[in-house]
Amino acid sequence: MKKGNYKNIIYLIVVVLVLAVGYTYLARPKSVENAPISKVAEEVKAGNVKNISVNGTDVTTTLKDNKKIQSTISSSQQITTTLKDLGADPSKVTLDIKQGSDSSFWISILAYVLPTLLIVGLFYFMLRQAQGSGNQAMMFGKSQARLADANKKQVSFADVAGSTEAKQELLEIVEFLKYPQKFITLGAKIPKGVLLFGPPGTGKTLMARAVAGEAGVPFFSISGSEFVEMFVGVGASRVRDLFNKAKKNAPCIIFIDEIDAVGRQRGTGMGGSHDEREQTLNQILVEMDGFETDTNVIVIAATNRPDVLDPALLRPGRFDRRVILDMPDIKDRTEILKIHAKNKPLAKGANLEIIAKQTPGFSGADLQNILNESAILAARENKKEISMQDIEASVEKVYLGPERKGAVMNEREKKITAYHEAGHALIGHLLPNTDPIHKISIVSRGMALGVTWSLPIEDKKLISRSELRDDIAMMLGGRAAEKIFFNEITTGASNDLEKATQMARDMVTRYGMSDKLGNQIYGRRDDLVFLGKELAEHHKDYSEDIASIIDSEISRIINEAYKTAEKTINSNKKKLEKVANVLLEKETIESEEFNALMDKTKV
Ligand code: ADP
Ligand code: ZN
Repeated sequence: MKKGNYKNIIYLIVVVLVLAVGYTYLARPKSVENAPISKVAEEVKAGNVKNISVNGTDVTTTLKDNKKIQSTISSSQQITTTLKDLGADPSKVTLDIKQGSDSSFWISILAYVLPTLLIVGLFYFMLRQAQGSGNQAMMFGKSQARLADANKKQVSFADVAGSTEAKQELLEIVEFLKYPQKFITLGAKIPKGVLLFGPPGTGKTLMARAVAGEAGVPFFSISGSEFVEMFVGVGASRVRDLFNKAKKNAPCIIFIDEIDAVGRQRGTGMGGSHDEREQTLNQILVEMDGFETDTNVIVIAATNRPDVLDPALLRPGRFDRRVILDMPDIKDRTEILKIHAKNKPLAKGANLEIIAKQTPGFSGADLQNILNESAILAARENKKEISMQDIEASVEKVYLGPERKGAVMNEREKKITAYHEAGHALIGHLLPNTDPIHKISIVSRGMALGVTWSLPIEDKKLISRSELRDDIAMMLGGRAAEKIFFNEITTGASNDLEKATQMARDMVTRYGMSDKLGNQIYGRRDDLVFLGKELAEHHKDYSEDIASIIDSEISRIINEAYKTAEKTINSNKKKLEKVANVLLEKETIESEEFNALMDKTKV
């Protein structure tokens, strides 16, 4: 609450107090008799009156026996003439007349005025409140763009690991911002927009900040989803406001995160938000087109969905420069870990290169998160340094979700889970095209009762059909083990089946890996934005005949993989049992121990 509001409240409290006191005074029970003025005249005639005090229209008569009579006269009357008219002689009594200072008059006025004041005050107070929120409503038109705090440590390219090509391209932008004249004198147009493409957490925001930091210019940031918040027409005025602010602060950078929220291809949206997006997008384009040749404002936009962007955004003179930020490879991961380990004391054995090796598919944001988690872990145990174990535990936590040591399984569930995981691991180990097993555990994590974690020896960009087939067999290994050892199947395999089915479907419809259907893609995925949520809709662009072939091909792949799993387990029962027993005993098996178990145990 604002300071002014406190003042208002104090003011209100005072008014209420005054009123309360006033009313108690007015409503004070009177230990006196109320009687008409004629009674007073009689008492005067009878000689019983000690004195009469008149206060405006109030007449208080004190009798000789100290009894009091309260009466009133009309304001036009004089007490003396009234008594005379009633046949009493006023000179016989002491008259105490307070002319002019009619306090009861004032009190009655106050009694009327104060509540009015109170109500007016209340209204005023409420109005102020309403206006406050009204001001906020007005603020919707203003952009919520944040100007990066000038005191905050400037980010530079040194803070961004890897992404060498991206940095090289962006260096040019830094030059434009720093020495615009150099380019203008040669007749070069300053670029207006740069699009950063890349999956979430690959450092797009960080990179944009680094460009601003390198050039030493202000950085305005806003997210595309903020544009589409509430009222129709607000997005466009926010854009206008943002660009006006930026032009006043030129040279500078405007960073629009999640540009796909407003910049999707027009004509594919649905519902009311569609118009709003279109208007916002149009306004962005109008503003960018309106830049003078020497307007030194560069718009950097980020998205992980370049495929859905409206082509109008990508036209020359708009976001015509594209920079790709990829998921980090092993070298980049090491660099990123090193950057984020800078302010953290690592114990001797902590080897970031090994961690980088264990984290294929992790983004920069994930890696930063891992080091942060490990620092928290070490701090919780009151350690002075972060150990390798702390970091490895955090990798697992980030990758698999936190362990739920408290979740109890009964003996039977535990046994089934151990055989299930051992089934995955056995097949992962024995089939030729799967990744080596990194760890097996039957400690619950999130929804999963157990995990088998395999890791590629090196980062992979291409996956072959044989690898996919063996992967599906490994996914079905859990269920196959349940069936073979318990002659029963459980719900524990549901997630495995889902993944296996999806993989088989992708093989058939997206990778052209079915001999029957050949090198063709079936079905088109369209993304629709509806009420801020993304709906992926599958567009069938094939006949019913093809649909049934797709279905039969998917079941063929799944059935073959299941047969492979079954065969592998049946001819290696001893090994699987050994692994399951060690799991039941220790709950986790690391890769070396697992490999040793596999090699030692005879078929
Ligand atoms: P995006 O905008 O692509 O979703 P961010 O820029 O928000 O990703 O990245 C989140 C965090 O991840 C960054 O603040 C940074 O700490 C870390 N990060 C991501 N990529 C890198 C990188 N290449 N080098 C260093 N840190 C990175
Ligand atoms: Zn499983």
